Amino acid sequence: MAVPKKRRTIRRIRNRVAHMKIDPVNLTRCSNCNKLIPTHTVCKHCGFYNDEKIIFLKEKPAKETA
Ligand SMILES: [Zn+2]
Repeated sequence: MAVPKKRRTIRRIRNRVAHMKIDPVNLTRCSNCNKLIPTHTVCKHCGFYNDEKIIFLKEKPAKETA
């Protein structure tokens, strides 16, 4: 069975985890709803990406497609 060779100290664990946080530098404003979103992702709030509607959310009926 695989066994860890060395004990992982709290300090080393916290040092690693500190780099996993979402960097606020990589957040941009959505072009449609102007909320903060990570870059290169579809907006969670309105489903827009690159000025195009990618995800059609259930709340709004499909009036805009016509
Ligand atoms: Zn948006």
